[in-house]
Amino acid sequence: MTKKVLVCVGTRPNLIKITRLKECFAKYPSLQFKLLHTGQHFDYKMSKVFFEELGIPSPDVLFELQRESQISVVSQIMLQFEKEIISDRPDLIVVPGDVDSTFACAFVASRYKIPVAHIESGLRSFDKNMPEEINRILVDNIADLFFTTEKSGNENLLREGKSRNDIVFTGNTMIDSLIKFQPNIENSSMLEKLNLVKGNYFTATFHRPSNVDYEKNLKAIFKLINNISKNTKVIFPIHPRTLKNAEHFGFNHLLECDNIVICDPLGYLDFMKIIKYSKGVITDSGGIQEETTFLGVPCLTIRDNTERPVTVEVGTNTLLPLDEEEIMLYVNQILMRTYKTGRIPEKWDGRSSERIVEAIYKFLA
Ligand code: UDP
Repeated sequence: MTKKVLVCVGTRPNLIKITRLKECFAKYPSLQFKLLHTGQHFDYKMSKVFFEELGIPSPDVLFELQRESQISVVSQIMLQFEKEIISDRPDLIVVPGDVDSTFACAFVASRYKIPVAHIESGLRSFDKNMPEEINRILVDNIADLFFTTEKSGNENLLREGKSRNDIVFTGNTMIDSLIKFQPNIENSSMLEKLNLVKGNYFTATFHRPSNVDYEKNLKAIFKLINNISKNTKVIFPIHPRTLKNAEHFGFNHLLECDNIVICDPLGYLDFMKIIKYSKGVITDSGGIQEETTFLGVPCLTIRDNTERPVTVEVGTNTLLPLDEEEIMLYVNQILMRTYKTGRIPEKWDGRSSERIVEAIYKFLA
C-alpha cells in the first residue's frame, strides 16, 4: 500500500535542506512524496529563486499568509495546515530545521496523531532567548523520528530521554545540496559581476535578532564591518530584517565605503560561489557555519553559543562575542593565514538525504 509523506517547508534554510529528497523518494515506489510550503518566507529573493535554481518541485500546497505579527503567522499556518491534513491525511510529515513553520506543522500533526520526522534534530544552543532554540526543543518533544547532522544531536536527544532506536545519524542534507550543485556554483559569474578576486575578500551576513534588533549591537556590527574593510574588501548581502532595522536606526551611512559591497540577499548558487572563494566569513547564521566548515573557509561566528559545535571542534568555525578588539585579532589571523584549518565532519558526504528516505521507508513499512 502507498504511504503518503508530506514534507513541510517555509523558509530559505528549509529549502536548502530538502533539494535531494524528491529524487531519493523516487527510488521507493511505495512512498508518495508531497511538498507543502507554508509561505513563511515568500518573496523572490528569499524563496522563489531557490525553487528555480535548486530544481525543487513546485509545492503541491502553498499557504497565503497575512503578515500581521509573528504569532499571527504561526496561528495561520496551524489553521491552514489543519485543513490540509484533514482533507488529505498523510502517513508521516517531515519537517526540517528550527523555524516557526517547523514547529507549527509538527504541533498540528501531533494533535491528529500523524507521526513527525525531524531533519536536523537534536541541535541545542542551550539559549532559550533564541526563538529557534524553543522551536527545536518543542519539535523534538513532538517528533517520532529524529535525523541528526552531528553526534552532539544524538547525545542531546539521548539525554532528553529519546529512544536510541528512533534516532538516526544521517549527516547533513545542507551539505548534500552543496555537493550536488558544486558544478552550478562554479558556473556562477558572481565574482566577475562584483569585481572580486578569489581569496581576496571577506563575506559578512547578519540576521539574528540578538545582533540586529538592538541599536547598540547593530551599530557595533556595522562599525566592525567598516573596520575589516580597511584591510580587505567586504561583501555584505543584507538580510531583509537587518536592512529594515538599519533604516529604522539610521545606520546605513556607516557602510558607505568603497571597500564594502552591499547587495540584496543572493540566490544560492551566487551566494555559495562568494562563500567558497572568501578569504574569511563573518556571520551569525546557522547554516553558513556548516557550509564554511565543509568548504574549509575560515568562519567567525558572532554569537555566544552555537547549536552546531562540530563546526568549532572539527571545522573552521570560531565563536566570538561582539567585541571588536577580540574579533579583529581573529580577522588578522585569517589575513595573515595563521588561522586554524579544519576537517569535514563525519557523514557530511552528500548522501544524507538517501539515509533519511531509507529510514522513513523502514519506519513506515
Ligand atoms: N543563503 C543564500 N543567500 C544569501 C544568504 C544565505 O542562499 O544571501 C543561504 C545559505 O546557504 C545559508 C542559508 O541560506 O546557509 C541559510 O540562511 P540564513 O543564514 O538566513 O539562515 P540560518 O541558517 O541562520 O537559519
